[in-house]
Amino acid sequence: MMNHANAETSRRAAAILREFLPGGEIGSVVAGNVLRGGGVTLELVNPADGLLFASFADAGASVVDAAMQAARPAQQQWWSLSAAARGRAMWEIARLVRQNAEVLAELETISAGKPIRDTRGEVAKVAEMFEYYAGWCDKLHGEVIPVPTSHLNYTRHEPVGTVVQITPWNAPIFTAGWQIAPAICAGNAVVLKPSELTPLTSLVLGVLCDRAEGMPRGLVSVLAGAGPTTGAAAVAHPDTRLVVFVGSAEAGAQIAAASARNIVPSVLELGGKSANIVFADADLARALVGAQAAIFGGAGQSCVAGSRLLVHRSIHADFVERLAKAAARIPTGLPTDPATQIGPINNRRQLDKIDGMVRAAVTAGARIAAGGACPEALRDTGGFFYGPTIIDEVGADAAIAREEVFGPVLAVLPFETEEEAIALANATPFGLAGAVWTNDVGRAHRVAAAVRAGTFWVNGYKTINVASPFGGFGRSGFGRSSGREALMTYTQTKSVWVETAANPGVAFGYVG
Ligand code: NAD
Repeated sequence: MMNHANAETSRRAAAILREFLPGGEIGSVVAGNVLRGGGVTLELVNPADGLLFASFADAGASVVDAAMQAARPAQQQWWSLSAAARGRAMWEIARLVRQNAEVLAELETISAGKPIRDTRGEVAKVAEMFEYYAGWCDKLHGEVIPVPTSHLNYTRHEPVGTVVQITPWNAPIFTAGWQIAPAICAGNAVVLKPSELTPLTSLVLGVLCDRAEGMPRGLVSVLAGAGPTTGAAAVAHPDTRLVVFVGSAEAGAQIAAASARNIVPSVLELGGKSANIVFADADLARALVGAQAAIFGGAGQSCVAGSRLLVHRSIHADFVERLAKAAARIPTGLPTDPATQIGPINNRRQLDKIDGMVRAAVTAGARIAAGGACPEALRDTGGFFYGPTIIDEVGADAAIAREEVFGPVLAVLPFETEEEAIALANATPFGLAGAVWTNDVGRAHRVAAAVRAGTFWVNGYKTINVASPFGGFGRSGFGRSSGREALMTYTQTKSVWVETAANPGVAFGYVG
């Protein structure tokens, strides 16, 4: 059933979009144009009130093809520039992001439901991502290899060509910047397909890429469309040379299979069920705040959320009681309010999934120590709110202890020994992140080494930075984004052999 339109939010979103898209009409951003889709109508709902505020037509295969056609010459032009010129153009993108930061944050808050204090921070991070990789453009070079023959042998890190990037709804512009910046730094063109639930800020970022001085039009296209139609057409396109996917394991498996059919490599950044381990010797006041930040930031809609709290049995009861009291005090409310720390869930389906998993945990014998429903004061908003929830007395085999909720729901499991904590931390198929809180330095390093996860924090949680590699172990995916490592994801290495001998022989077969 269609929701009634919310006139004020629609007006504000349309006013922002008009600054970037002709007439404010939502369509795919391709080579400086906005292309209207040919598919079914997709609706955008404001998570804070549950009301429709905009709609657009699914892009479909012909718009995907237009983006691919634009990408090829743009990529050739881009790669023919000097590395320093590419860096300058990327600085320009960063400048435009900073210049438009406030409207980008506002648009993200309307469409993703994220608190404005978070979206302001995330937009600033996007600018940093382009600045960081701008600096890498003229530092990405190969090496000379001391081969035993008379050759000069050197490597070149060349772009792969056109990269398809597919992103989810939980941190739309942050994830778009996180992926676009290293891809173009390495000399590639990008065709990005953001989630059909939250495409707006990614479309605006595409416009800013086109507007930046020195950027070839068509180097970065952004598709407004759904996964199984527009996304699948981009993955299967013959010009696609690499697919980078951020999202659920289910969609990731389909996309990796479709990429393989196209003889194209894929990078998967999937979900997690990360363990936040608190030992009795930790600074418990800090661990208490850290445990809240780990799970309740972004209303738990974060791939690295610390959704399992493993706490030493000697402090378990007291720690959970203090945590429950603190959770009830976290400002939860409208995402446009600068004081709000927990906003709504992004969409109705996700809200229902979260509530269903909490109900199932209770049926299985767990105890709700905090939350477990929409907060009383927010019931009449129509928004997709869910209070910060702590579930105690969870069995290690229970679904709530093993499966990703992607919401503000913390499952608590006590442990007795370091070995048991490590075993519990590793008792999921995921391996995205984790943390340990302890003042024992040896234990900190032992646990950091033993937990299977792509990112691990000691006495902290959730710090990530564009300079540091990020990615998953196990079912959390493969390949690395950010840092220098991402540049290897986005390049292919060529080995060049130059004969330097005065009178070389030409041998048949392999030499060297
Ligand atoms: P999702 O997998 O449903 O969708 C992600 C994207 O894939 C969307 O753009 C969607 O349109 C597209 N898609 C879906 N099916 C497709 C198909 N067959 N072909 C091409 N494209 C397709 O995920 P979601 O619900 O948007 O996001 C939540 C999930 O994302 C969670 O599991 C979360 O953990 C994960 N996530 C992971 C990271 C990370 O970096 N590891 C970051 C954020 C979110």
